[in-house]
Amino acid sequence: EHNLFTQSPVLKLFTTGPMFRHERPQKGRLRQFHQINVELMGTKAPLSDIEVIWMAWDILEQLGIKDLRLDINSLGCPACRPIYRNDLKKYLEGIFQDLCPDCQRRSKINPLRVFDCKNEACRKIMLNAPLNREYLCKECMDHLEKVLSFLKTLGIPFVINPYLVRGLDYYVMTTFEIVSPDLGAQSTVAAGGRYDGLLKALGGPDLPGVGMAIGVDRLLLLLEKDKKGPSVDLFIAALGSRAREDVMPWIKHWRRQGLTVQMSYEEKGLKAQMKQAGRAGACYVLIVGEDELDKKKMVLRDMMTSDQHEVLLDDVMSAVERLIR
Ligand SMILES: [Zn+2]
Ligand SMILES: [Zn+2]
Repeated sequence: EHNLFTQSPVLKLFTTGPMFRHERPQKGRLRQFHQINVELMGTKAPLSDIEVIWMAWDILEQLGIKDLRLDINSLGCPACRPIYRNDLKKYLEGIFQDLCPDCQRRSKINPLRVFDCKNEACRKIMLNAPLNREYLCKECMDHLEKVLSFLKTLGIPFVINPYLVRGLDYYVMTTFEIVSPDLGAQSTVAAGGRYDGLLKALGGPDLPGVGMAIGVDRLLLLLEKDKKGPSVDLFIAALGSRAREDVMPWIKHWRRQGLTVQMSYEEKGLKAQMKQAGRAGACYVLIVGEDELDKKKMVLRDMMTSDQHEVLLDDVMSAVERLIR
């Protein structure tokens, strides 16, 4: 839109929001679903593939999602894929009778899609099918090798999955999925790849591109499974109106440092506040009363171990931060 591609040689875009699926909905495949999409257009360089994969991986990792696996494959390009597709078609003709009705249809119009079949018999037959990888031209091979070598450098664990294919022609070279074993049949949390022919096919300029999408609904299923609610780093049990005023600048400072800090909205006694801190799942509680302010000393309580640390008023901001981190 708006000829954005003329403004910069490399265009980086993201979109988020609801999308709608025509196919039958099921668990983890909702009619209305949400995605985070990232696109990088204008370059064929392997490093741009990496930047997109890296971002997806980093987002999921930072959200604390464990046991992720990156599946990666190369789909070839318009130079090498037709030869492969032809051989695959021949192979499928030979085993046509053993395929499920769906795959018999697919084998004629979109042979690559036979790899997606969930039918046990089809899967077994396809284990002997010719694989894209054996047909890659030099350019595709070099591209794949560079991508894999960057992944190693970044320490992102990957599995080359020769069965990872896409049914649409504009997808080329790198294709990937980030999967979680915790999601069952719909195990893909993020997916993406290179689509050099897409913009042209849509009537736009002939620009290469690579992109990814993170499925927000599946992400939520995973986070729910881990029961990772928002946690409170520090709860401030401030007693009396003077203490409640005095701690305000500290709260502001700690929040800016990225800590999650809470204080009771209403004035309450210590016992009620400790209870509230416990319910909020606070890791630490700082107890601040008139007495503590006068003595310029207060107590930081570790809610897990019940250890108490003495903190001096003069040093409170950095001392608390040090103890919590
Ligand atoms: Zn190629
Ligand atoms: Zn099948």
